[in-house]
Amino acid sequence: MTCGCKVGRISQRYELADLDGELVRYWTDRTDQRYSTRDLAEHVNQRVLEAALDDAGLQYKDGEVENTYRLLTGEDVSSGTQVQTRKELERDSVPVEDVESDFVSHQTVYNHLTNCLEASLESPSDEERLERSRDKLGALRNRTAVVTEDTIAQLARNDVLDVGEFDVLVNVTVSCKDCRQQYTVRDLLEQGGCDC
Ligand SMILES: [Zn+2]
Ligand SMILES: [Zn+2]
Repeated sequence: MTCGCKVGRISQRYELADLDGELVRYWTDRTDQRYSTRDLAEHVNQRVLEAALDDAGLQYKDGEVENTYRLLTGEDVSSGTQVQTRKELERDSVPVEDVESDFVSHQTVYNHLTNCLEASLESPSDEERLERSRDKLGALRNRTAVVTEDTIAQLARNDVLDVGEFDVLVNVTVSCKDCRQQYTVRDLLEQGGCDC
């Protein structure tokens, strides 16, 4: 089943297998690898270009499609280089004008994802948010401990500070202004809020 929007049409015309699956997967990825709709538009357009090069029977090396796409569309590419790239593609029987008019914008990709594919970006669950915050604050506490230990050790080495063997403990306390109750950050996150 295909939709009638531009992404659906080009995906059919260029036979871009599993394009929809890729778009949803890359867009909803929960890691830092997540694609923005701009990244996705670039991905779609590179697949269009690749298919056009295939149709023209051209051989290309790894990375060449991406580079050709950059030469055609990059803002940092001189117009002379763009013209030259188009000429070379035309000479190789690639219908450059058609291909370029088939390129999609990030807005088109966004509409396709949300309207045609009914994909949506889930926000992280409360549990995931708490987990991430625990990790972040834990790392911060460790770092505070390490820096404190280093600093004290250095002062002691230079005989500025007189101290025996020592341990550094980092405790961050959160105090509820409504009821004056105090919690360690860990306990507060653990119990999901103040008792008051
Ligand atoms: Zn669509
Ligand atoms: Zn309280």
